[in-house]
Amino acid sequence: MVALRNRNLKLFTVALAFFAITITSFLLSYTQNSMLYFRFSGPFMRFMASMRRPCNCETCISEAEISLWFDERFNYTIPPLLTKENSVISESAYKWWSHLQSERKAMDVNKAIEEMFKVIPGDNNLLVQNPYRCRTCAVVGNSGNLKDSQYGRDIDGHDFVLRMNHAPTAKFEKDVGNRTTHHFIYPESFRDLRENVSMVLIPFKVMDLQWVVSALTTGTINHTYAPVPRKIKVSKDEILVYHPEFMKYIYDNWLHRHGRYPSTGLLSVIFALHICDKVDLYGFGADSKGNWHHYWENNPSSGAFRQTGVHDGDFEAEIIGNLTSIKKIEVYKGR
Ligand code: C5P
Repeated sequence: MVALRNRNLKLFTVALAFFAITITSFLLSYTQNSMLYFRFSGPFMRFMASMRRPCNCETCISEAEISLWFDERFNYTIPPLLTKENSVISESAYKWWSHLQSERKAMDVNKAIEEMFKVIPGDNNLLVQNPYRCRTCAVVGNSGNLKDSQYGRDIDGHDFVLRMNHAPTAKFEKDVGNRTTHHFIYPESFRDLRENVSMVLIPFKVMDLQWVVSALTTGTINHTYAPVPRKIKVSKDEILVYHPEFMKYIYDNWLHRHGRYPSTGLLSVIFALHICDKVDLYGFGADSKGNWHHYWENNPSSGAFRQTGVHDGDFEAEIIGNLTSIKKIEVYKGR
């Protein structure tokens, strides 16, 4: 009789444990895939999250409790892309953003966004997390250290290959690769893109939002503070827009307000931290002789990137150094 009761007790305990694990798994898979997780992330949910990893790579970028430095900066709730669903820009973000590049006359940002999303789709499926996924990303900066690096094949082997500004690939394939999935530009740095490459517009002023509409339709805008292309050959479905709110998050949380605003390189790196599970960096930093030129330039002493005074290159390098030392990213230094 006692033996039977003990056996029932054991069975009950096993069933209870099984039930608890099932409920926990369900809650995790539901909450990790939705923004609710972050809205209701109390100590209990944080504990649950730490019990299960957010991706299927050896290590996952968004994994918490590996580095306090990282956890204090990384905020998954801030969306990197401007979409129809999140297009209201807060007063404080707008105040900061609208001073980055002055406009000749005051413009209504919300009207410009509304008009833009009449032309481009304004949806986003990049952010959905999946515990069975291991999305690898190569972020390719424009440093001359890529010259003779032979990184091309490695770069092309990633799921996503992110490039920026003028970055050419033709004639440099061996060192920089051939594939591009996302190309970050602002109107003044636009270059022609191949088919099936997503153009990620980084807007620094209201006119940049108007430019994308103009460049796909009437072609009326051909000058901001510099000449910009009247028309672009990019499918409207391939156009994504970087969120001004996300720029401010990088400036506040990551840069601690160093420099006037983040460089395209840092904007791409932090963007990658939010949409990828593993991030490798190529083409960042000086070459082995201390030169800051671009990989397509023949004159290594040109070093334009460090001379603008707009970005704090040293502080940005420190962020990349810290991310490397806590193994959130890997940096391939080239030559
Ligand atoms: O010069 P550009 O802004 O087009 O370069 C894109 C990014 O590549 C920069 O924002 C910077 O992060 C990185 N870069 C670099 N070293 C260079 C040139 C560019 O780290 N010599």
